[in-house]
Amino acid sequence: MNIWFFLGELSFFVLLFFFFIFSIYSLIEREKRAFWRSAFFFVVLAVIKFAFYLFEPRLRPWLFGVVFILFLIGLILLLVPSLKKSSVEIVGKQERVDERDVIFARFDLVEGTENFDDYYRRKPEYRKIDDKIRKIPDILAPYHFEKNPALFSLATAEFDFLEHQLTQVQGEEFSERAGGLPPENTILIKKILKYLGSDLCGVCLLDSAFVYSHVGRGPEPYGQEITLPHKYAVVFALEMDLEMVASAPKAPVIVETGKKYVEAAKISITLARFIRRLGYPARAHIAGSNYQAMLPPLAWKAGLGELGRLGILITAKYGPRARLGLVTTDLPLVEDSPRTLGVQQFCQKCQKCARNCPSRAIPYGDKSEENGVMKWVLNREECYRFWRKAGTDCALCIFVCPYSKPANTFHNFIRKITESSSAAQNLSIRADDLFYGRTPRRRASPLGI
Ligand code: SF4
Ligand code: SF4
Repeated sequence: MNIWFFLGELSFFVLLFFFFIFSIYSLIEREKRAFWRSAFFFVVLAVIKFAFYLFEPRLRPWLFGVVFILFLIGLILLLVPSLKKSSVEIVGKQERVDERDVIFARFDLVEGTENFDDYYRRKPEYRKIDDKIRKIPDILAPYHFEKNPALFSLATAEFDFLEHQLTQVQGEEFSERAGGLPPENTILIKKILKYLGSDLCGVCLLDSAFVYSHVGRGPEPYGQEITLPHKYAVVFALEMDLEMVASAPKAPVIVETGKKYVEAAKISITLARFIRRLGYPARAHIAGSNYQAMLPPLAWKAGLGELGRLGILITAKYGPRARLGLVTTDLPLVEDSPRTLGVQQFCQKCQKCARNCPSRAIPYGDKSEENGVMKWVLNREECYRFWRKAGTDCALCIFVCPYSKPANTFHNFIRKITESSSAAQNLSIRADDLFYGRTPRRRASPLGI
C-alpha cells in the first residue's frame, strides 16, 4: 500500500474517531447542539473521505497525502507546547483585607445599629451604592419564594443548617500529641479528605496576607481583630453538579451551592476535630459565614487552580464549578505548589463569562492591580445587585465557562492540551462557541421542581 495513502487514511480515522467520541459524549451530557454539530462534522468528513475514492487511482495518494500533511501541521500546533505560561502575578505588598468590607458583611449590617453607623462613618464611599442595593429584596427573601417555593425553602434550610455549625469550628486540642512526620501527616490528611468526600485538596503555608484583619460576620464579636497563628492551610474543593448549575441563575443553583457548603462544613469540622485529637490546634472555616481567611488565594497557593477572569478559582478538574473548604492548623505538613494551567492566557482571549454576565460585573479588558495582585477585578456591587434581583447566587459565569465542562476523559483531554498550546486555546475558545453556543443553553434542574 502507498505510504501517503495509508497516512491519509490514518488521519481520517483519527478525525472521524474524534467526532464520533465527541457526539457520544455530547449525547450523554444532554448537549443537543454539540451532538448535532459534531455528528455533522463526522458525516462531512466521512463523505469527503469516500469522495476521494471517486478520483482516479493515481490521484488518490496525492489527495490522502495532502490530508495527512494538513493533519500533521494541526497536530503539531495543538500538541507542541507554545504558551509562555504565567500564573497569578504578585506585583506589590498585600495588605490584610478587613472582613467588614466584604460585601456580605456590609449587607449583614442592620440600619440604625451602632455597627451600621460606625461602618459607614468610616467607609462613606460604600454608602450610596449599598443603600441602592438595600432597596432590592435580599437573596432568599420571601419575595423570591413565589418563583419556586420548594427550592427556595430547601436552600434556606441548607443555610440555616450552616448557621448552626458556626460554633463547631474550633476547640481545644488533646494534650497528648500523636501524628507522624510531615509527609506521613500530609498523606493521611489527604486520604481522609478524599474519604470524607472532597474532590480536590492541597496544602500551603497560611500566608498572613490572606487572613482577614477584623471579624465582619459570624459568631465572634464584630470588629474584633483576627489572630490566626496557624502555620498551614489545608484547602479542598467539592465539585458542583453541572445539571444543577445549568439552570443558573434560577433556584437550583443556590440549592447546589448550599448543599456543597453544607458538605464542606461537615468535612472541615470533622477534619479539624480529627487534627485536634492528634494534639494539634486546628480550625474549620465554613460558609455562613465564619471564614477567617480568604479561600481562593489559598486554594491557588495549594495548587488547586488559578484565579480566572470571573473572579473565582478555576480548578484543574472542574473549572470554576466547585466550592472550597478550609482547615487551618499547626499539624506539620508538606506544602504543595501553585500550578500553572494556562488559565491566565485562556481567560485573556476567552471573555465568555464577561459576555454572558447579566450585570456586566466581569471586566473585558486586561488585568489590573488590586491589593498587590494582578487580576481581573470583578465589580462586586454589580454582581451582588444581580444576586438580589435573582434571589440566588446567579452562577451564570460558572455555567458558561468552558472549563466547567464535565471532568470526563474527553474534556480532560481538551483541558490538558489547552494547558500549554496557544493554538489549542484559540481553537478551543472558538469551538466552545460553535458547539455549545456563545450563550450556552440553560436546562431545567434534574430535581424537576
Ligand atoms: S469564561 Fe472564559 S474568560 Fe471567563 S473565566 Fe472561563 S475561561 Fe476565563
Ligand atoms: S455571578 Fe452572575 S452577576 Fe455575578 S459575575 Fe457571575 S454572571 Fe455576573
